[in-house]
Amino acid sequence: MKIARTIAQLRAVRKAWHKAGQTVGFVPTMGALHKGHLSLVDAAKAKSDKVIVSIFVNPTQFNDPKDLAAYPRTEAADLAMLKPMGVDLVYIPNADEMYADGFATKVSVDGLTDCLCGATRPGHFDGVATVVTKLFLQTGADKAFFGEKDFQQLQIIRRVVADLNIDIKVIGCPTMREEDGLAMSSRNVRLSEEARAIAPSLRNVMGKCIIDVQTGKTIADAVQDAKTRLAEIGFGKVDYLEFRDSKNLELLEQLDCPARLFAAVFLEDVRLIDNVEIK
Ligand code: AMP
Repeated sequence: MKIARTIAQLRAVRKAWHKAGQTVGFVPTMGALHKGHLSLVDAAKAKSDKVIVSIFVNPTQFNDPKDLAAYPRTEAADLAMLKPMGVDLVYIPNADEMYADGFATKVSVDGLTDCLCGATRPGHFDGVATVVTKLFLQTGADKAFFGEKDFQQLQIIRRVVADLNIDIKVIGCPTMREEDGLAMSSRNVRLSEEARAIAPSLRNVMGKCIIDVQTGKTIADAVQDAKTRLAEIGFGKVDYLEFRDSKNLELLEQLDCPARLFAAVFLEDVRLIDNVEIK
């Protein structure tokens, strides 16, 4: 497994692969890897000849400096997880080359970024769209693999690729969960034992909320009941609990199109996000 820490090293390897006629799959991550990330690696391995995984805690997508400082960094453990998966190259860019002196360009997506996580994390999706565009251009990959866990991010990246005519195929992969239903996330390690025991209830409350709507409750009532239940269980502030159109992320008052229920809820100082497809 090769490791590239500069754009030049990365490009040299990828150009050789393309010259040999091999396709390249790419999995961007911020490290602190878990089985959710590894499921993307599996998908990339199945659909490409060579696989690049990037590890970069991108400073420009953190609107809260405390969140950036607290983000887990576990490079040695990450590399140990990737090696047996048969990853061909791990790209670990350094922030100085990523954001060299005078850096002034931003990729900013209208519309899709206003709601959900965009509403409470100003600038977050500009940071994501910009760094992912850079990573696409740097890797020159043919396919990129993203988790549906971050569904809004996935839709935003699809928009960027379509709008900027980037020659890469974006592939969404299902959310991996712990056995108790909690969506895997690098942030889960920050939960206390007590909070970790409560956390899976988010998925259960979301499931009940969906069934309530499917069995006749209005969306407004079902969401209100779910919020009350979350507070009773011990969750903190609910950033959002919303039914939205899966495609354009517009807020729904009734289920009349392919839809998802999206949630962002604080537990202690950890912000958990999840989304569930409505079958
Ligand atoms: P992150 O390291 O949090 O930036 O995530 C890197 C990629 O892994 C993103 O495409 C995420 O959507 C994806 N990912 C994170 N958690 C999960 C999960 N539980 N299941 C599937 N994909 C995930």
